[in-house]
Amino acid sequence: MNTKKTTASLPYKRIVVKFGTSLLTGGSDHLNQEIMSSLVGQMSQLHWRGVDQILVSSGAIASGRHKLGISKRQHLRDIPLKQVLASVGQSRLMYAYEQLFGQYDITVAQALLTRADLADRNGYLNTRNTLLALFDLRVICIVNENDVVAVDEIKGAKFGDNDNLSAMVANLVDADLLVILSNIEGLYTADPHHDPAARLIPQVDRIDAKIMRMAHDTTSKQGTGGMITKIEAARLATNSGVTVVIASGTEKDILTRLASGEQIGTHFLPTNTRLESRERWMLSGLCTAGKVLVDDGAALALKKQKSSLLSAGIMEVEGSFDRGEVVDVHDAEGNHIGCGITNYGAADIAKIKGVQSTRIASLLGYDYGSEVIHRNNLVVF
Ligand code: GLU
Repeated sequence: MNTKKTTASLPYKRIVVKFGTSLLTGGSDHLNQEIMSSLVGQMSQLHWRGVDQILVSSGAIASGRHKLGISKRQHLRDIPLKQVLASVGQSRLMYAYEQLFGQYDITVAQALLTRADLADRNGYLNTRNTLLALFDLRVICIVNENDVVAVDEIKGAKFGDNDNLSAMVANLVDADLLVILSNIEGLYTADPHHDPAARLIPQVDRIDAKIMRMAHDTTSKQGTGGMITKIEAARLATNSGVTVVIASGTEKDILTRLASGEQIGTHFLPTNTRLESRERWMLSGLCTAGKVLVDDGAALALKKQKSSLLSAGIMEVEGSFDRGEVVDVHDAEGNHIGCGITNYGAADIAKIKGVQSTRIASLLGYDYGSEVIHRNNLVVF
């Protein structure tokens, strides 16, 4: 078994890295050995300095397409073909990594995940246990979406892009850094290809509507995700207590420099302190069944006074859910401010919203307590 050296000199101990297709192919129609070899070399250096790493790698579909000689424009929207391409390409992708990491005496593993697998609490925990065990064995796990079984048509079954998948993996294993590498240097104020005044934003403290707008404006039509899915991913990860960096994978020594704390690309600061595993699960959005909208007073009390959510502060309820399910909490402006396990189902909340807790029993004929979401079952960011 490989032994672990010290990470004492590095600010991050557990890193999830995501490589996008455009990076791995260098914009061509096949995996670029030189780029892959440089990235793997950097991960290997970090590995031997004791950093735990997971690699979320795209590139299976591109690799399968190249092998079968199918052009990019052919059947682009044909899901079964995409699945076939992923099936052909995934083993080629893994073979390339196996060879490259092998040069550094590093063993790799493969995990193909779907959203549906993780939405199941047992699936989530089993995956987490496997990934943590691989850290203990000093094996680098290479993760991709299981494109062969997950199709877009089944709502909620698929992540659809590896940006969100990488944030989920960072959430799962409680990483302290998520690095999303592609061919983009980071988040710009406008599309740098069209606006000469566009500038790179070095740091984002909080992902708000303005940041989302910028992501929207700078998302190109190419690639699976673009900037929007990267920012969505950054939001999930930063809410889970993870620092996120979006940067260009072709920048020299990008991974080793980022891991040493250098400021390259756009850094997104965590909006939460490290959370308990159960809280991260709630936050993952994997099992969110509905949402409640709360008034300004309640939003403030949740954020500043760390109170429970009471019926009086609830303005609206959406979705159909039962008591015990996870719901999102939004403020009056529609901002997502947290989530938690509800003590009342949606139909009950519709009846008790806006009323004092003392009236719950008379309105419903029963009472599960004065809190709709108890503080202990609530994550606010
Ligand atoms: N899972 C896809 C692949 O391996 C990529 C999806 C993505 O890049 O977001 O080709």
